Amino acid sequence: MTLPTNKINGNNIFWDLDGVLRDLSFRFTNQEIATWTYVNSHGDGICEHIDKNLNDLLKAPPCEYLDLALMCEPLHIVSAQSDLWRPYTSAWTDIHVPEARVKYINNMEDKMKYLESGRRILVDDYPFYPDYTHIILINRPWNKETVAPRRANTPEELMVYLEGFLNGK
Ligand SMILES: [Mg+2]
Repeated sequence: MTLPTNKINGNNIFWDLDGVLRDLSFRFTNQEIATWTYVNSHGDGICEHIDKNLNDLLKAPPCEYLDLALMCEPLHIVSAQSDLWRPYTSAWTDIHVPEARVKYINNMEDKMKYLESGRRILVDDYPFYPDYTHIILINRPWNKETVAPRRANTPEELMVYLEGFLNGK
């Protein structure tokens, strides 16, 4: 992977956590999660699975975009986490992104508010935002149907989009 050696100005870049930087699906199913509402052989969706296995929040491996995110200074992470999840998630971020400025929110509508003030961009995998003008979508099986002007398939592609954003495009 060819990534920049210099730090990236992260002031206006906001990163989602799950599905972008942390892989919560590592013990959820042994097959690809094809849809957002996928249910495993126990009849659980991903959130129900995590509610029953809170340690997975701590044990989850990083995604392939973590190294690029760590180049950002500052590293802003904004993530919808239930109260139950937050202590475990904080333990994960302490290990994997100790310098990050992490904001917890309750729902996706709250996340959109981060895009309202000034020129900002959000890196996210969520498939159901009403508007992707200020979002770089991380390509995942569960957002294949989502129409977005910027869809990153690799960290290198994401870097091109971030450079474009930082250069005013
Ligand atoms: Mg996500």
